[in-house]
This record gives sequence, C-alpha cells and structure tokens, in this order.
Amino acid sequence: MKTKLFYSTFFIILSFLASCSIFGEKTPTDCTEVHWTHNGEKDGQEEWVDLCTGYSACGGEVQSPINITGAVLGSNLSAIEFNYTTTETEIENNGHTIEFVCNAGNKINIGGTEYELLQFHYHGLSEHTVNSNHYPLEVHFVHKASNGNYAVIGIFFEEGAENTLFAEFLNNFPTEEGTYADTTEIHLFELLPENKSYFYYNGSLTTPPCSEIVNWYVLQTPLTASATQISQFSDILDNNYRNVQNLNGRSIFKYDE
Ligand SMILES: [Zn+2]
Repeated sequence: MKTKLFYSTFFIILSFLASCSIFGEKTPTDCTEVHWTHNGEKDGQEEWVDLCTGYSACGGEVQSPINITGAVLGSNLSAIEFNYTTTETEIENNGHTIEFVCNAGNKINIGGTEYELLQFHYHGLSEHTVNSNHYPLEVHFVHKASNGNYAVIGIFFEEGAENTLFAEFLNNFPTEEGTYADTTEIHLFELLPENKSYFYYNGSLTTPPCSEIVNWYVLQTPLTASATQISQFSDILDNNYRNVQNLNGRSIFKYDE
C-alpha cells in the first residue's frame, strides 16, 4: 500500500513538473526568431540541433567543417573556372560574421555546373583545419546553383604580407550589427590566391540550419594578412568558428593545378 502511494505521488509530481516545462521549453518549428551563437552557454554550437526542429541537420552525418588530412587525388575533379567581375562595397556585420554582399553576375563553373556568387564572409580562427592545425582566419565564398546546391570556396589566411582588402576596409568593418557601404568597386578575382589547387569534399553549411547541400572546395594555398590585421579582425570575429565534425566515412579529394 505504501509503495502504491509512493508511485502515485511520484507520478503526480512528475506530470506537474512536465506541465510547468521545467524540463525545457518546447522546440519551435519556425526557426526565424531563434537566436544562436557559436559559444554561448544555452545557444552555442553544441545546442544548435536542439534549438529548433529546422536545425536538426546540425546533428547530421555529413557536417562541416572537417579536419583535412589524407586527401587523395580526385580523378573526376577539374579546375574551378572563375567568371568574376566586380561588386560594389556592402559590408554587413550580421551578428555572426563580417559579410561582403555581392552584386549578381559573378559566377564559377565546376565540371559543367554553374554557381552564382552570393556573398563572402569570414571566420576566426579557421573552421577547417589541416592536419589538425587551425589557420588564424578563413574566408568563405558562397555560391548557389540553380538546383539549390551550394559550392563554397574556403581560403585560409596565414600571417605574412599585408592584405590589400583588409588595408582598405578593416577600419570600416562594423564592430556591431550593421552595414557599411560605399561606391568602391571590388575586383573579386584579385581576392584569390594565384594557385587554385583545392581540397574537395561534400558537407554542410557551418551555421544553422546546417543544411547538407554544400560542395566544399578549400583552396590549398593560403592568403596572407599582417599580424596587426589578423589581430584586429580576430577581435571583431570573436571566435566565430564551428568545431570540426566527424567525417563518418567521407573521402577528401584533392585537385592539383
Ligand atoms: Zn562560413
């Protein structure tokens, strides 16, 4: 009799706790109002998958970034054809990164598939690692094909000669959410390293919703920026990198020019 009473009381308390949502708020289905961060205690990268049902891919098997190691020559891979021209200057701090929004008409072609450049943005430290080593910064040129798939070109930065783009705009990068714009034309092709050999693998967006729709092309040759530039930019970016994800059997290929 005592046992029965104990269990009844236990279940009453349990249902009470559940109805009070002491066990956590309901996961929303509409993600538009969901706040996330890289390193916050309640909304940081380990929590993304639980913040919103639309972020379930963040717990998937084909996620990015990854540690690049043991890449094998990809016999089906070909050079990336860059059909870049210029874009006007529009630099946005969206609360997660510094992003250059690009004018339409800048395209790449890879193996017959055309992708249009949407924007490029930065992470500090780098998101991808090479043999488990981070670079201080990484830029992502985000392109979208008409079928909805993405091709993102990642380029590392190492300490060295001053970076021309940073020299021109670093002091204008918004340090809080907001936009800086002027009429300067940026010549996009000049932002790339001369050697365009790359690593390739299939993965995801590295921020929510972490959709697994990205062909990743990480260039083997880093760009340079001065120690002062790297330090100034890193302060703004504030460790906005996602940790490397499990490969789960994926292969990493390389294409050498
Ligand atoms: Zn990125």
